[in-house]
Amino acid sequence: MATIRASCSTCGDVEVTSRDVTVRVCRNDSSGAYSFACPACTGIVVKAAEPRIVELLVASGVRLVTWSLPAELDEPKVGRPIDHDDLLDFHALLETDGWMDDLHRMTAG
Ligand SMILES: [Zn+2]
Repeated sequence: MATIRASCSTCGDVEVTSRDVTVRVCRNDSSGAYSFACPACTGIVVKAAEPRIVELLVASGVRLVTWSLPAELDEPKVGRPIDHDDLLDFHALLETDGWMDDLHRMTAG
């Protein structure tokens, strides 16, 4: 198990082990990032990682997780984008009794 020197934005330099770190690489654009829970403040630290850093971390025994962008991004978008008024209307709807039935009625067909 390798010791990795990393940096927390709150605590500064900290040391974690390869077991504490996770590397994530996006299958769509190959962008990488690593994350760990800071041993001092327990906050989750996430940093972008160039391919060279990803290789170094994986070679040190860090767990590699790959992920894909959601397929919904490729779906055609119809209608206008929602705005703050839509969000407020939705919030008000959720405060009413029977909001689920109302929602079904509003979105049917
Ligand atoms: Zn910290």
